[in-house]
Amino acid sequence: MNGNFSREKRFTCQQSGHCCCDPDIIVTLTYRDLFRLFTVLYRDFRLFLQKISFYTLDSSSHPLIERHMVLEPILTSDGKIIPGLKKHLNKTCVFYSHPNCSIYSARPLSCRNYPLAFVKENKQIISVWAKNSQKTCPGIGKGSPQSLSSIEQRGEQTLEEIEKHNNVVKELNIEERNKRPLSAREALWTLVIYGEAQQKQMQQ
Ligand code: SF4
Repeated sequence: MNGNFSREKRFTCQQSGHCCCDPDIIVTLTYRDLFRLFTVLYRDFRLFLQKISFYTLDSSSHPLIERHMVLEPILTSDGKIIPGLKKHLNKTCVFYSHPNCSIYSARPLSCRNYPLAFVKENKQIISVWAKNSQKTCPGIGKGSPQSLSSIEQRGEQTLEEIEKHNNVVKELNIEERNKRPLSAREALWTLVIYGEAQQKQMQQ
């Protein structure tokens, strides 16, 4: 770990697009991300599936990969999956349109937090530099220091969103063990629907 709330974090986005083109970065998605992306893609599930996919953890995956995933894998008939953004063949994100993100206002949680990521250690939320960011993000070290309270708030919101997502997936996985497992596509759709229901509940 290379950071915590007590250290100064200084960064300002330079719109380099390096994070969106980094071949080593995968953007995984919570149910809230999935629903937001579904709405920005005109609620067209066919279009959605052209942009959103899933990463499969199979028996050939290194056990450390699963341990380092912050999102709980979903058990499906296609294997253990984690929803994520597709990439073009050249490894840039499908939503990247030089020099910007084409869905900026609806971008996923991890993109909104970049170059930071948040983890919980010994019941404490700490902020760390996201994978590769110190090598590739030209915005690090630029601008005024980020306020401690805004970073803290983002950390709390992020981990709350991840926890809620993981709880939903755990419930889904218990149900799946008792009946025909969903396909990966059906699981994505179930999470979109869940995201919509949650959104409606929050608006009431
Ligand atoms: S969704 Fe937008 S911000 Fe996130 S990686 Fe893709 S282009 Fe970049």
